[in-house]
Amino acid sequence: MLPPHSLLPTRMLLRSLLVAGITSHPMLLAPGLATLNFLSKPRAPLFNVERNPLLHSILKNVLYNHFCAGENASEVKATIQNIKNMGFCGVILTYAKEGPGRSSGDNSQLDPESQKVDTEIEAWHQGVLQTVRMIGEGDFIALKLTGAGAAVTTALSLGNPLPTQMESALADLCGEAISRNVNIFLDAEQHHVQTGINKVALDLMRRYNRGDVAIVFNTYQAYLKSTSVTLLDHLDYAKKDGFTIGIKLVRGAYMSTEPRHLIHDTKAETDASYDLIAESLIQGQFAGWGQDESFSSPRLHLFLATHNRTSTLKAQELQQDRTKAGLPRIQVQYGQLLGMADEVSFTLLQRNKEDMQSQGLVVSDVYKCLTWGTIGDCIFYLLRRANENKDAVSRTVAEYRALRREVARRIKNVFTF
Ligand SMILES: Cc1cc2nc3c(=O)[nH]c(=O)nc-3n(C[C@H](O)[C@H](O)[C@H](O)COP(=O)(O)OP(=O)(O)OC[C@H]3O[C@@H](n4cnc5c(N)ncnc54)[C@H](O)[C@@H]3O)c2cc1C
Repeated sequence: MLPPHSLLPTRMLLRSLLVAGITSHPMLLAPGLATLNFLSKPRAPLFNVERNPLLHSILKNVLYNHFCAGENASEVKATIQNIKNMGFCGVILTYAKEGPGRSSGDNSQLDPESQKVDTEIEAWHQGVLQTVRMIGEGDFIALKLTGAGAAVTTALSLGNPLPTQMESALADLCGEAISRNVNIFLDAEQHHVQTGINKVALDLMRRYNRGDVAIVFNTYQAYLKSTSVTLLDHLDYAKKDGFTIGIKLVRGAYMSTEPRHLIHDTKAETDASYDLIAESLIQGQFAGWGQDESFSSPRLHLFLATHNRTSTLKAQELQQDRTKAGLPRIQVQYGQLLGMADEVSFTLLQRNKEDMQSQGLVVSDVYKCLTWGTIGDCIFYLLRRANENKDAVSRTVAEYRALRREVARRIKNVFTF
């Protein structure tokens, strides 16, 4: 069988090799990170990525195009087409610009009953509407609620109702998503706003997940010690209120800022928590909940958003085993960020192809998660990706070696012919 990276078009393969070459070598990564950090601050035109054409072109062709979808609708649509041509089922699209992100100092914005237009909510609303209009059937839009600004963040952290303007923006967005057959992820954020986000997610799932499919998905962070209990509560609500629950499972991205005692003590414990939740949901046995009846009531859809090879392949093998044994199955989908963990994404795609050939059935849908926006909008996103690569050294080195082997294989093929 061909190696997983054989699915990468040559242009992308070479760019991936360059980026992995830099991010897997600490001596190259450290100055790269320092440069990105420097460029992320407001600078004079010479060092401004939006205004210096040479800087813009270098950053765009190397780093931006590797990790981001595009600066406008036509670039984003072209990237999405490339992704789907490689065999991915669809994309998760997110807008890098998350609203002005600061309070205007106008306290009327914090009053949910205020009739004044909140410019932060309006900017967020327009940004997400633009985003949802770039995608189509079966794709996802990912929403970060605190991106809608100070009034929304305050309401979420106090557990208050959202401002009326935000309620209408969400209803408008859900209507647009439904009309385009697009699904919605509510991203998990920091603990102080998460109870508020859970409340919004449950309301939206009650309202929109009425049929057999989940349109709205809430995100659950396996690194939190409390997640099993939260999930159990939400499953019970789904059963009681008769809606399909959409579960996006992640490990959690806010370790450096969250109170440490809330998070599992070790990485191994977070890994075990992730795998246990995924496996027991797939088997309809989550925390003793539901047993076999979970396959009919309530219905649940699971999206495993992870770069972790072991977790991903374990879940996929479990799905395959259930398929072969003729046991009931829930819908399981998988997603990785664009430019990250390609080996995991392509392995899933290849296994799908084998399943299709041997059983005539796709066991798992695979997605890539893309961020769009101008280079200026995306620079902090790029910085986070570079830092994440630094923290996952062994995976980055393995990715680099696999890419090098694939380049060598293609060169050898040229000379063999
Ligand atoms: C498509 C997609 C969507 C995502 N959406 C969200 C989201 O909405 N909200 C969100 O918070 N994150 C989100 N993430 C990020 C995710 O939570 C992880 O931070 C990231 O994917 C790395 O974890 P991993 O599962 O890929 O695997 P790994 O790289 O194997 O795991 C790294 C993770 O393990 C955990 N960890 C590391 N060290 C320790 C330790 N000492 N003790 C305890 N735990 C530890 C942390 O969560 C860390 O991020 C998303 C990721 C993807 C791919």
